[in-house]
Amino acid sequence: MITIGINANFDTEKQRINMPNDYITAIIRAGALPVLLPLTDREDVWRAMVDNVDGMVFPGGEDIHPEEYGQEVHPKCADIVPERDKQELFTYRYLLSRKKPFLAICRGLQLVNVAHGGNLIQDIPSQFETDIEHQSREAAAHEVQVVPGTLLHQLMRQNKVNVNSRHHQNIQDLGEGLKANAYAPDGLIEGLEFENGYPGLAFQWHPENLSETQPEMQRLFDWLVAEASKAKTP
Ligand code: MN
Repeated sequence: MITIGINANFDTEKQRINMPNDYITAIIRAGALPVLLPLTDREDVWRAMVDNVDGMVFPGGEDIHPEEYGQEVHPKCADIVPERDKQELFTYRYLLSRKKPFLAICRGLQLVNVAHGGNLIQDIPSQFETDIEHQSREAAAHEVQVVPGTLLHQLMRQNKVNVNSRHHQNIQDLGEGLKANAYAPDGLIEGLEFENGYPGLAFQWHPENLSETQPEMQRLFDWLVAEASKAKTP
């Protein structure tokens, strides 16, 4: 069975890892085994994580420390876990060197952008004027325009999709080699992929919460497992 690693959240207060179960079920529905990757400071274990999975999901979570993209900490930038930033940036870069596929969701998209030299809007309500509520509990918070000709468009098979939205940060400047594949109506970038066709997709929304009822969202996880399978047996 194909194995997909997911970086678990770490609750510093309770000293426990935790993971929203929708990530787990979306991967299992795609036919793969999800494996939770714990937080550790051991670089040899970070390498082993990547070596032992066929693909990865970089999930939602805390804000990335702005020092990773050369900015001072904005007062609304919250819950930073620098150890997690270091581990995920390392495993992300090592994953690319091993040419394994990934999905990056919410914080994950922000991580990918930062890893490629991009930067972030640290707090949308205080730094970007918009009529759209990007911190919403609704299943359909706003629509996104899917850019024709992109890998995302091939999987969505439509120009507009409704998405949920639970983020207060966003991409500001795109990292090198990345291109936007989805935009919110206010112009914010809601999705990323690679100019060179590398098998990685990133979204600002949470497809794992929608994949049970919206087939196009499940196709993202199906795509990841299919790519992981290809990478395993070339
Ligand atoms: Mn949004």
